[in-house]
Amino acid sequence: MKKTILITAGPTREAIDPVRYLSNHSSGKMGYALAQAAISSGHRVILISGPTNLKEPQGAHLIPVVSALDMKRAVLKHLKKADVVFMVAAVADYRPERIARQKIKKSARALTLKLIPNPDILKELGTKKRADQIVVGFAAETNNTVAYAKKKLASKKCDWIILNNVAKAGIGFGSEQNEVTLFSKTGHTQKFPRQNKTSLALRILSTVIK
Ligand code: C5P
Repeated sequence: MKKTILITAGPTREAIDPVRYLSNHSSGKMGYALAQAAISSGHRVILISGPTNLKEPQGAHLIPVVSALDMKRAVLKHLKKADVVFMVAAVADYRPERIARQKIKKSARALTLKLIPNPDILKELGTKKRADQIVVGFAAETNNTVAYAKKKLASKKCDWIILNNVAKAGIGFGSEQNEVTLFSKTGHTQKFPRQNKTSLALRILSTVIK
C-alpha cells in the first residue's frame, strides 16, 4: 500500500556569525538512498534535508533546511501526514547560544563560544507520534554499540533503531557502503551485512514497513 514516508537527512549547520558555522561530516547519502528506495517502491516521500552535495531524488518533496531548529520546525509541520518517519539526519547536538550579527573579528586572544543543547527531534516524536505511525531512529556508535542502540530505542521511544558502527573503516559517514543492525521495540533483531547504501535502503524499508 502507498504510504507517506518522512525522512530527515544530512547534517545541520549551526551559525556562529554570518560566515561561520558548526556542523559534522554527514553526507546525507543514507537518507537520500532511503528516499530513493521509498520512491522506487511507490511511496510518497517528504525529504527534510540539511545541506548536502547530493542530487535531489526525483519525485521527492524536498524541504531544504539549515539548522536543527529549522529541521525541527519542518518535521513537526509535516508529521501528521507521515505513516513512517526515518530520522537519518545527523542533527548537531549543540548550537551557539548567540549568533553574532556581524563577522567576529579575529584577535590574538582566545575566543570562547557558549554552546547550548539543541532539541532532540527524535525524542520529541516519540511522545508526539500517533499509535499508527512508525518512527525509526539511527544510532551511530563507536563502542558498546548494541547496548547504546538498545538504550536509545527505549529512551527515544522509537519503534525501530538502526545501529551503524561508525568506528569500522569503509562504512557509515560519507561512504557508499554501510552495515547495520535493526532493533525493534518488540525485541526483533535483524542484521544486514556490508553492502551499498542503495540495496541496504530497500532492505531496511521492506523490514520496517512489513
Ligand atoms: O542521540 P543521538 O544523536 O545518537 O541519536 C541519533 C538519532 O536521533 C538519529 O535518528 C537522529 O536523527 C536523531 N536526533 C534528533 N535530534 C537531535 C539529535 C539526534 O532527531 N538533536
